[in-house]
Amino acid sequence: MPIRSNTIMNWVSIVGLFFCLAFPLAGNANDESYDETLNKLDKASSSSQVEAEAIIESLLTSWTELSNEQKARLKMYIAIGKTYAGDYHPSIQLLREAEQLTPSTATLNKIYQYLSTNYIALKDYPAALALMTANLERIDEITDIDIKMGSYVRLANLALALDAYDDMREYALKALALSQDGEARVHCFALLFVAVADLKQQQYKSSESRFQRSKIFCEANQFPLIGLMSQKGLAEIAIQGEDYKRAKSLLELVLKAYQEFNFQTEINHVNALLSQTYLALEDYPQAEEFANKVMGLSDDPSHIEYKAIAAKVLSQLYLESKQYKLAYDYLDSHQYYTNLIIDDTKAKANAYQMAKFKHQEQAREIALLNQERQLVETQKELDQSDRTNDVMIMSMLVGSVIFLSFFLINSHRQKIRYRKLALTDRLTGAYNRGAGQDFAENEFVQVSMRQAEFSVVVFDLDLFKNINDGYGHATGDWTLKHVVSAVKPLIRDSDIFTRMGGEEFALFLPYSSEEVALGIAQRCKEAIAAIDSKYSGHSFKVTASFGVSSNKLEDLSLDPLLKRADIALYTSKHLGRNRVTLYTPELELQCSSETQRSLVFN
Ligand code: GH3
Ligand code: MG
Ligand code: MG
Repeated sequence: MPIRSNTIMNWVSIVGLFFCLAFPLAGNANDESYDETLNKLDKASSSSQVEAEAIIESLLTSWTELSNEQKARLKMYIAIGKTYAGDYHPSIQLLREAEQLTPSTATLNKIYQYLSTNYIALKDYPAALALMTANLERIDEITDIDIKMGSYVRLANLALALDAYDDMREYALKALALSQDGEARVHCFALLFVAVADLKQQQYKSSESRFQRSKIFCEANQFPLIGLMSQKGLAEIAIQGEDYKRAKSLLELVLKAYQEFNFQTEINHVNALLSQTYLALEDYPQAEEFANKVMGLSDDPSHIEYKAIAAKVLSQLYLESKQYKLAYDYLDSHQYYTNLIIDDTKAKANAYQMAKFKHQEQAREIALLNQERQLVETQKELDQSDRTNDVMIMSMLVGSVIFLSFFLINSHRQKIRYRKLALTDRLTGAYNRGAGQDFAENEFVQVSMRQAEFSVVVFDLDLFKNINDGYGHATGDWTLKHVVSAVKPLIRDSDIFTRMGGEEFALFLPYSSEEVALGIAQRCKEAIAAIDSKYSGHSFKVTASFGVSSNKLEDLSLDPLLKRADIALYTSKHLGRNRVTLYTPELELQCSSETQRSLVFN
């Protein structure tokens, strides 16, 4: 019974931590021996925590003899230890103190990187992004090629933590190009990051070959931990391809090596992946053991994605062994963690769009000011040389007015575009789950106050996986877009069309009766079945199964409505797909344990 992870897992920002750690810092001429000790500490921080702590102890005894630069570095290394241990606030405090010591630019760069690592861990995305934007502004001015490519790797890492994969790839490719014949360390990280960007965007083929390259390259150049992360990436791709035997052997090796480094965050991730893999291989005791390890972790934000997977694994396990109560409880907790992930993704998207917007706006304002200054200077010259040349001045003024209007209109459009991006699903243009459900919930409250009718239609494309597997992911995307285009004309502007995830959609229909909802569902079903696939370059049928339900007096929120519609949808699937089912209480009685599964795993 294979399960596939919808969310490809968290590639923690700890990667960035390693990146910084691995750079030896230039020594200050004041006191060579302390600089050497600090360089040793730099190495120890990425290899042995015990050794690092001993060096820190010894340096602290000579605190008064250190220069400001050395004090800043020492504080920074202590802060790194705190970050490892999950004490993010004390770490931030130390880094801010280090910043106050006005260290060199190289040290300052690192301090900012660690600060953003902490902010990301605390999910304070606006603060992390403010640091990123500041770095981005500086990067053009950097002429030292080593610092420049290092900065690109850090930007890529931050973009990764913020789910901005296009940007991540862009920065990583820049670092890759710059490091082609240069610093092996940067090249190793850049290779890994491009591979991760591919993985996140589900380009598994190219991701696989890039992970293979980064593994070989990084191991050959003595960066074993990055080699291990690459191997973990290969395991994730094996899971995606349902090659669980390969995933298992890769993950077991990786786990053993991580345990030697005591790299806890990565161990948690591997445990979650292993539980998933063992479940697929029907090795239930092992699956349960690994899933329980993950469920035993605290609800710290960095554990949420792992716990979502483990809860799903346990729920499926208990379904298999017919322990329905337990299965249901874990289903519940899976849903709980999934919702947290969705909220977090929304927060990231909003913060990211806002920060980018601000950044572009600033650049535009600067361009505008430059233009204005140029205009004034040109005018002065003109005045001096030929005061009678009014026509020329006039035309320049007109030009600047047109220019200004253009910028105003353009920035207004950008604003609207970013707001829309945060609410809609990028592929299809339908509302994303968070926004759609929020709007629908509001409408539902209004409708309930008036004691009017509210209906929900949910649908799920039939055997959609076959389209992906048979004709490729791009054709799957083509289909999703065309399904949305086919349904849109059939609903009112006031209806809320939402992509609930994957190939599942919901239509929230305020002030609509059951009969109206049934009619709409029927027409949508026909419109989808009429999609002509030949424009995708292939020939296949697209159909969908529908579930319909309407509100009852005792419904206090949308949840029960959605649940009933889901049960009806499941019945449609069960009866052979490509049909519409209206919810009736009898359906619920007919539904056995399988229904529970459909509610979440669809
Ligand atoms: P059923 O009718 O029983 O629901 O079968 P199904 O194949 O539609 O259901 P299943 O849940 O097995 O497969 C859904 C597939 O949808 C798996 C996933 O890879 C794919 N999918 C989810 N989101 C996207 C997307 O954005 N684009 C593409 N191309 N595929 C997607
Ligand atoms: Mg489906
Ligand atoms: Mg589905």
